Amino acid sequence: MHAARGGRCEGSSLVPMTSVPHLVTEIPGPRSRELHAQRARAVASGFGVALPVFVAGADDSTLRDVDGNTLIDFASGIAVTSFGAANPRIRENVGEQLEKFTHTCFMVTEYEGFVRVAEWLNAHTPGDFEKRTGLFSTGAEAVENAVKISRAHTGRPGVLVIDEAYHGRSMLTMAMTAKEHPYKTSFGPFSSDVVRGPNANPLRGAGADEALGEIDRLIAEHGGEFFAAIVVEPIQGEGGFIVPAPGFLAGLRRIADEHGIVLVIDEIQAGLGRTGRLFASEYDGVAGDITLTAKALGGGLPLSAVTGRAEIMDAAHVGGLGGTYAGNPLACAAALAVFDILDDPDTLPRVATIEDTIRRHLEPLASEIATIAEVRGRGAMMAIEFAEPGTLEPRADLAQRISAECHAAGVLTLTCGTHGNVIRLLPPLVIDLDVLETGLEILAAAVRSVAAEEAAA
Ligand SMILES: *Cc1c(COP(=O)(O)O)cnc(C)c1O
Repeated sequence: MHAARGGRCEGSSLVPMTSVPHLVTEIPGPRSRELHAQRARAVASGFGVALPVFVAGADDSTLRDVDGNTLIDFASGIAVTSFGAANPRIRENVGEQLEKFTHTCFMVTEYEGFVRVAEWLNAHTPGDFEKRTGLFSTGAEAVENAVKISRAHTGRPGVLVIDEAYHGRSMLTMAMTAKEHPYKTSFGPFSSDVVRGPNANPLRGAGADEALGEIDRLIAEHGGEFFAAIVVEPIQGEGGFIVPAPGFLAGLRRIADEHGIVLVIDEIQAGLGRTGRLFASEYDGVAGDITLTAKALGGGLPLSAVTGRAEIMDAAHVGGLGGTYAGNPLACAAALAVFDILDDPDTLPRVATIEDTIRRHLEPLASEIATIAEVRGRGAMMAIEFAEPGTLEPRADLAQRISAECHAAGVLTLTCGTHGNVIRLLPPLVIDLDVLETGLEILAAAVRSVAAEEAAA
């Protein structure tokens, strides 16, 4: 067992320029392993874990574990703690609300925070039209409610979703999510009237026109009157950080308009500054009739939102929308702090700097290491896909091994993709830039060391 100070990456001569990662035990350490054993006896085994380390504290760039190790955070709790897991502004707002009250249920008695969050989202989501917002707790709930509202508005049942999409784990959203394992295996039967169309995945040679042509055909097959909603991520998250071919979102907008279908853009992972714009769909110049947010919205507290055209949103009858915890007051207070940060003119330019920094480290690697099929993404939502050179046969084993080396060296990375062959980077948007550099050097060293092992094998 190695106990490296300052995150020395095994197999490299790297001397980090920052004091983190700071490792005093192997990862996971003894206390984390003890707690993990207790977890295994108490918690249903259906919950997976990317890195079995128990967290004791956090700052803008790092997570501190119960053994005293400090890890560089390239996960942000899956794009949730975009402003750090212990952001002082968020904690202050939530603390003030905590002193007042924790809950009333917005459907029982009202509170101002809910209205202020709705106002900000109405003003800032894409689309120059009158909007209304509904708040919920989880992303899956936002997706489900967007479908409910679209059905109420159109009087139609169908939902069109895209290959490699991820929309959640609830009963309806499992049907909308593409990947079978682990999300759907043994949990069916699933909701009917969900139809999957092809993705415009540039790496796999699928252009926008080809995908849109097939979607046109699917719509003709079911009849234009069948579909209530087209639901699409502007950049796919769990599916592999796939940036759609140019023109794909605009084409879906055209198809939706042609048939009176509600276009729902799921910005749950990519929205709220993650890609360097407030919303990822801005890159395509496309406004959904409904835009979904969650993840970063509550700054770590559970909050999601459905924001859309007033006439669509108001199609659901009074009493038809809600939920006990929908738009919880603590979560709304956190969101208002998140909005303050997003309104700060320095916030989004910083994300562009993060993207430049990541590209500067990873793009040279892509030309050096043959099994890197692509480095892609936008802003602080970047990924490396591993595949067999020439055939593009996915190499999940490489993504797993590299991620494991990063974990051992004190950098928390995540994988994703239909085939699990993608390493994704989701650092907090407030990460210290020197810490980001160090983390990327450790990642690059891990990529090289796994490639060298391959070559030697
Ligand atoms: C995470 C995610 C969801 C589901 O959100 P939960 O809060 O986990 O229910 C839906 N859509 C996208 C794009 C996501 O990334």
